[in-house]
Amino acid sequence: MLKLAIMGAMQEEIEPLIANFSDVKVTEFANNKYYEVNFNGIDIVIAYSKIGKVFASLTATTMIEKFGCNKLLFSGVAGAINPSLKIGDLIVATKLCQHDLDITAFGHPYGYVPGGAVYIESDKELIELANEVSNDLNIKLTEGIIATGDQFVANEERKNWIGNTFKADALEMEGASVAVVCNALDVPFLILRSISDSADMDAGFSFDEFLKSSALRSAEFIMEVVKRVK
Ligand code: SAH
Repeated sequence: MLKLAIMGAMQEEIEPLIANFSDVKVTEFANNKYYEVNFNGIDIVIAYSKIGKVFASLTATTMIEKFGCNKLLFSGVAGAINPSLKIGDLIVATKLCQHDLDITAFGHPYGYVPGGAVYIESDKELIELANEVSNDLNIKLTEGIIATGDQFVANEERKNWIGNTFKADALEMEGASVAVVCNALDVPFLILRSISDSADMDAGFSFDEFLKSSALRSAEFIMEVVKRVK
């Protein structure tokens, strides 16, 4: 039976999701709150992890191993690398990588450690579902590569390096770690992000200005995916 996890990194990213439900059960675990709801007969667990790869891994693992979730959706905001992505635009990750993982001193490629892989691919059926939502509701959705690292990138040079090294279209701080966890535990996942900034020198200001509106766009789209998920 389907039990769905919906994750964000920040409170602002899950607030517009939780707002859809009236009967919410809150469970505290590992310094975090997990919000359990039922929607159209589907059990859903919602949580925000806190920012960064470590907290995101902890939350994803908890949702799967403790709460028994067997599908995971991530909703949040990201910085754009691909110049065709504008504020508010939605990107769904085809695959994700860790841009700050570096043992290149031993001849390995960026983003790689033995036993791992540079890229983790998202679930094809969930991407298909996202494209259906996009087509049916006429909401623009871009497929692309998302690069994750424990840095808020507000620097043109770093952004371009990440773009060139990983062919990435957007960057953020949680997606790839969630992907690693889901891949290892055999849980299909989808990472959706709405653009809050362009990871350049104005990124901090742009992020503060557009966090709420972009997080809402992502959450609204995710709710449409939830309505169709099987
Ligand atoms: N303003 C927050 C910090 C936000 S960090 C505070 O002070 O607490 C940025 C968050 O949004 C991360 O969760 C990350 O996944 C995403 N994000 C958006 N734009 C980003 C960028 N340019 N670089 C890295 N992460 C970005």
